Amino acid sequence: MEKIVRVNMDDLTVKVELVPEKYRGLGGRGLTSTIVAAEVPPTCDPLGKDNKLVFAPGLLNNTPAPNAGRLSVGCKSPLTGGIKEANSGGVAGNKLGRMGIAAVVVEGMPKGNKSYKLILTKDGGTIEPADDLKGLGNYDTVAKLTAKYGQKTGYVSIGQAGEMLLKAASIAVTDRENRPTRHLGRGGVGAVMGSKGLKAIVVDDTGGQYSKPVDPEGFKKASKKLLDALKTHPVTSQGLPTYGTNVLANIINEAGGYPTRNFSEGRFEGVEKISGERQHDVILERGGKIAHGCMPGCVIQCSRIYNDKDGKFLTKGPEYETIWANGANCGIDDLDSIAQIDRLCDDYGLDTIEWGDAVAVAMEGGVKKFGDAKGAIELIKEVPKGTELGIILGNGAASVGRAYNVSRVPVVKGQGLPAYDPRPIMGIGVTYATSTMGADHTAGYAIAPNILKVGGFVDPLKPEGQIDTSRNLQIATAALDTAGMCIFVAFAILDIPAGFEGIYEMLNAQYGLKLTADDVLALGKSVLRTEREFNKKAGLTSADDRLPKFFMTEPLSPHGKVFEVTDDELDQVHNY
Ligand code: SF4
Repeated sequence: MEKIVRVNMDDLTVKVELVPEKYRGLGGRGLTSTIVAAEVPPTCDPLGKDNKLVFAPGLLNNTPAPNAGRLSVGCKSPLTGGIKEANSGGVAGNKLGRMGIAAVVVEGMPKGNKSYKLILTKDGGTIEPADDLKGLGNYDTVAKLTAKYGQKTGYVSIGQAGEMLLKAASIAVTDRENRPTRHLGRGGVGAVMGSKGLKAIVVDDTGGQYSKPVDPEGFKKASKKLLDALKTHPVTSQGLPTYGTNVLANIINEAGGYPTRNFSEGRFEGVEKISGERQHDVILERGGKIAHGCMPGCVIQCSRIYNDKDGKFLTKGPEYETIWANGANCGIDDLDSIAQIDRLCDDYGLDTIEWGDAVAVAMEGGVKKFGDAKGAIELIKEVPKGTELGIILGNGAASVGRAYNVSRVPVVKGQGLPAYDPRPIMGIGVTYATSTMGADHTAGYAIAPNILKVGGFVDPLKPEGQIDTSRNLQIATAALDTAGMCIFVAFAILDIPAGFEGIYEMLNAQYGLKLTADDVLALGKSVLRTEREFNKKAGLTSADDRLPKFFMTEPLSPHGKVFEVTDDELDQVHNY
């Protein structure tokens, strides 16, 4: 991956350049964060012309490595005010790797209120008018693009939320069935794409191919080590393919950390109806599909295809986080309503976690009642209409809290908390508080050692050991995100050392390197340092590395716990 594609929205030109020395050896999050830190003024307006939107495939996306192929996007976040990296499955990450593209950097801002699309081929790119796509949801956008550019092309697009510059707006990436179901979800990245006037990117990899490893035999051996680990570990070989990520609903509920009705209780009485087990049965009864891969090369297959009552495709998954955010968190126990909300989030281009958090805060503020599934669907339909309510909600949970004077607002650095309450699962609370990204479970998934006993065990109800746990996971995750690996490989490689070896040995064989495990961790630390430095210059301080006060003052049922990790301890996470 030798090329950087520079897309200048000021004069609507596209230039291809060789990856400069300072960006070499990086991919995915490592590359997006390094480019953003080097090229974006930290105090700029995230929706102004000085922000840049950087797409980068991971370092292993130009190979057939198992579960490599994620696409990262980076920018200054309009939601957190700090640096942002979000990554997703779908086909575009792999295609960019096959086209030899290390990064696509979108900069500047066009004049007027017009929409554009970027057409990428292996030889370069062009910007073309896309006013015919203006105001369309992601599904219609992809249908129109497919009619012109074909089924085998990858599409990256924004829906109405991104065009309206809403801070919960996501960027959609088409999946293997050419549906816009995979999302670069968090931090308002869709609004940054909207601010550039960029409605869609067409990724045509005709003529592209995987690059040949420097050491083909070594690559095969290393790849098999990871594959064997994924095929052996019970979570990656059984739990995730059979029940999807929503296998967690019963587990986290049982642990008393399933946030219910805007983080006011730790168990949801309706969990059975929205659990992974129930979802599994509903999917099979309606002729949907379990064990589905969201991107090429996925051997875990946690995704699923969810049909409606008539057996017609409704949406993917939905994932655990989505079902929780728009289910238990809003007191809703109807799987079909949640699936419909998921479909609408994908279509309008909204982060399902931020959206669910926003609705739950609105319910606490009296806009609708907890448990009102019909009301929740009415709320999301406000977004494309551009009503005041739709705009307040579409700007995320913090925006709703301000508008309706709600004091219990579950956000860190302005970003809504995901599906694990930090009071009875303190390790994840440390990650939420101290991640460079705002509240983000994927930044350091402490659920593994706290609840699943993967990679050891650290008692979730006690503060002891949580700082080290979160620190180590945040470092390892930053490295995995740089390689382009799906985060779920972590379950296998935390328990099976040969799986972890397989990842850096693939990098060595592909690029002719001599990386050791320590080098991989050093890479993770360096990515985090770069992100922390950007955030500091943007004005974020240790006061932003905190959970909202109510987590320290309101004990959560059933364990009666508050979050007990101290501020001084939180400030030790990034000492490495
Ligand atoms: S394990 Fe799940 S999220 Fe990861 S690549 Fe496969 S389907 Fe996508």
